[in-house]
Amino acid sequence: MRFDEAHAREAQHMLNLYPPIRMPMVMARGEGARLWDTEGKEYLDFISGGRAVTSVGHCHPKLVATISQQAGTLIHVSNDFYTEPQLALAARLSTAFGGRCFLCNSGAEANEAAIKLARKHGHKTGGPDKFEIVCALKSFHGRTLATLTATGQPKYQQGNEPLPAGFVHIPYNDVAALRGAISERTCAVLLEPVLGESGVYPATPEFLGAAREECDRVGAALILDEVQTGVGRTGRLFAYQHYALQPDMITLAKGLAGGVPIGAMLARETVAGSFQPGDHASTFGGSALPAAAALAVLDILEEENLVANAAAIGARLAEGLEALRKQYPVITEIRACGLMLAVDLKAPVANRIKLACVARGLLLITVGDSMLRLLPPLVLNEAQAEQGLQILGEVLAAMEAEP
Ligand SMILES: *Cc1c(COP(=O)(O)O)cnc(C)c1O
Repeated sequence: MRFDEAHAREAQHMLNLYPPIRMPMVMARGEGARLWDTEGKEYLDFISGGRAVTSVGHCHPKLVATISQQAGTLIHVSNDFYTEPQLALAARLSTAFGGRCFLCNSGAEANEAAIKLARKHGHKTGGPDKFEIVCALKSFHGRTLATLTATGQPKYQQGNEPLPAGFVHIPYNDVAALRGAISERTCAVLLEPVLGESGVYPATPEFLGAAREECDRVGAALILDEVQTGVGRTGRLFAYQHYALQPDMITLAKGLAGGVPIGAMLARETVAGSFQPGDHASTFGGSALPAAAALAVLDILEEENLVANAAAIGARLAEGLEALRKQYPVITEIRACGLMLAVDLKAPVANRIKLACVARGLLLITVGDSMLRLLPPLVLNEAQAEQGLQILGEVLAAMEAEP
């Protein structure tokens, strides 16, 4: 199937939600950091399937073998039963974090679980008025009603009113605003350690440190949304490990099972007990197949030393992009944290650059009109990093020649 036909079928059968972000091809298969479309054209995937999901690359042999093996053994039983993959994954995640684990199917669900646990904990420790959650402007936490309310971007909220009460927004990295927003009514502070969808803005140590301090002062939970930053992407297993602090809860999803839908909420013992049996649940959460896939991803990260690779290749990409910035004045700033990278542009040419890169076989995404974003898989090697930089350089050169 070609793009035109896919586009026509979508127009006929699907809700009209994704056309503005669709790229002009139909993807057929992938291997490592590469994808091929239905016409056989090859692409270097600098976005991990599009949104930082295929963390160990496409169709990693060990992940494929694990999924195939598990699919032929047991795909699903509900949480009426125990399964070994679920318990093994829970052990692995809760040990890595130091707490307990709830498994679900997406980032929004993981955040929803964290919000519910924080509210329950607030009610239990501070009464019915302790329900406020302090979040950041420009954040992204998901598309369910509670998580889009936590998301500090009006465009995701408009038309969905009335929104759930109790979410307060402050500018990201604004310590004074954060301190001013927190009170005895606060049950949680919910933050991304690095703003992802808004374009790779890491939290300052002062900001996260103040969040930790204020949460301790009023007895609120510090929740870090690591849906995008977690599982190695920033060069540490969890991004909060770049900071000298411990959150009370973190949420994971995107890269955790390498492309199989999954989400996880990890909570320290101090707050985890505020969920009683029946307070929360998920039919699919922790099914044998996604749990086995996540275990395989965690094994691959260790066996291939991919967290360190994310740090090293991320640094190399940042350096290469910095060199392009010096050469091409259209680039104004580079931001990077491991394999989360953003390129700020002086003019609204992001989409033009994206499509020119796609034509030359490099996949990246945009934020607004004037920013590019790169989220390569953790398996990206040096040669592939150089190839991607080279293609972007060629596109910038062509654009300079023909503005
Ligand atoms: C993508 C993302 C989410 C939402 O995840 P879904 O799986 O799409 O629900 C939440 N938080 C952050 C930081 C994200 O990047």
